[in-house]
Amino acid sequence: MPSTRVWGRLLGVGAAVVQTVEFDEDEQVLVASVRVRACDRYCCGICRRRCPGYDTGQGRRRWRALDLGTVRAFVEADAPRVSCTEHGVVVAWVPWARHGAGHTRAFDDTIAWLATTTSKTTLRTLMRIAWPTVGAIVTRVRADIDAGIDRFAGLRRIGIDEISYKKNHKYLTIVVDHDTGRLVWAAAGNDKATLQQFFELLGPARCTELTHVSADAAAWIARVVAHYCPDAVRCADPFHVVKWATDALDQVRRQTWNALRRQPGGSGWDRRGRRASTGQAQTLKRARWALWKNPENLTERQHHRLAWIAKTEPRLHRAYLLKEGLRHVFAVSGQEGKQALQRWLSWAARSRIPEFVKLGRTIRVELEAIHASLDHGLSNALIESTNTKIRLLTRIAFGFKHPEALISLALLALGGYRPTLPDRTHT
Ligand SMILES: [Zn+2]
Repeated sequence: MPSTRVWGRLLGVGAAVVQTVEFDEDEQVLVASVRVRACDRYCCGICRRRCPGYDTGQGRRRWRALDLGTVRAFVEADAPRVSCTEHGVVVAWVPWARHGAGHTRAFDDTIAWLATTTSKTTLRTLMRIAWPTVGAIVTRVRADIDAGIDRFAGLRRIGIDEISYKKNHKYLTIVVDHDTGRLVWAAAGNDKATLQQFFELLGPARCTELTHVSADAAAWIARVVAHYCPDAVRCADPFHVVKWATDALDQVRRQTWNALRRQPGGSGWDRRGRRASTGQAQTLKRARWALWKNPENLTERQHHRLAWIAKTEPRLHRAYLLKEGLRHVFAVSGQEGKQALQRWLSWAARSRIPEFVKLGRTIRVELEAIHASLDHGLSNALIESTNTKIRLLTRIAFGFKHPEALISLALLALGGYRPTLPDRTHT
């Protein structure tokens, strides 16, 4: 093989011609001058159609390529502009990079693969790249993958959820496929207009094919779903229903704790001069994890703390049992679950705990949707695990400039079409 073709293969420039390769002593980088073959020249960078040339653009340009050994490498070439009838004046197509990218396709693909498989620090150190650039790369790799696939094909049963992704109350609305477990769509925002975008993309024909839609009880979700797919069965997401109970329990816990703190000996000053609970209030504060955890995961000590609550704070303990009772409803599901829910509702109504009386009312309003979810057994675990995984990704995505980058990363990682490493057809 002639040496220029060996270089072309190493740098991943496809069918382009490597003219010279030089080592830049000042910058300590390898620079390969490359020329696009005559038959590939003057094609639109977006649609690849052959177009008349427009001008020389900004002259020579460099694209970062994968390192060769330990040396950073760049591809350098002319980047003329062409005039496309559809896309206007755009930079001409090059075989080694995506349109508008400053990195080669092989470099992009490697970054996208690493972003979904390894830690931020590993990626940044290994690839010597700034984090916002990673955000731009995952966005274009995702767009490229999306051009060749149909994420909405065969959707029948979907789950809709909102996930907070920044501390200052920013939200993503996500859609998952209950049958494949894939994340199919996500967008920034949690309102009617955001969710409408999804159904508009899905189109009227596919909307009618949806048989089940699970979601939390947010009114804006219910309204949009009712408008676009009136025939689909709306199911209440068990994950959210149980969370309502956990929230109600937490309110009762706070009231109990505050009451204990106000009692003589209930609070004092700590060594740094801050107000701190003492005595029973302190014991209760330490017991809060025991209240939130599922009983099967309790440690020995947490069991003791629960027993202590049962003895000293019967009202709080009843609230705890109510929360557990509701969790049980979804654990058994089906007809048995419906009966258990009926018993739970009368128990909550008689509980004399306002938070649970109120929760009982909310559940009665949503009863049809909750029954539907008990009947159809839509997997609670799926929404919950997607929720958790996206939450983890938001930590990695911290530092990306646009929410679009987080969405792209989430779709690459959880959408079922994972990025692949370049040139791995023969493993
Ligand atoms: Zn074009």
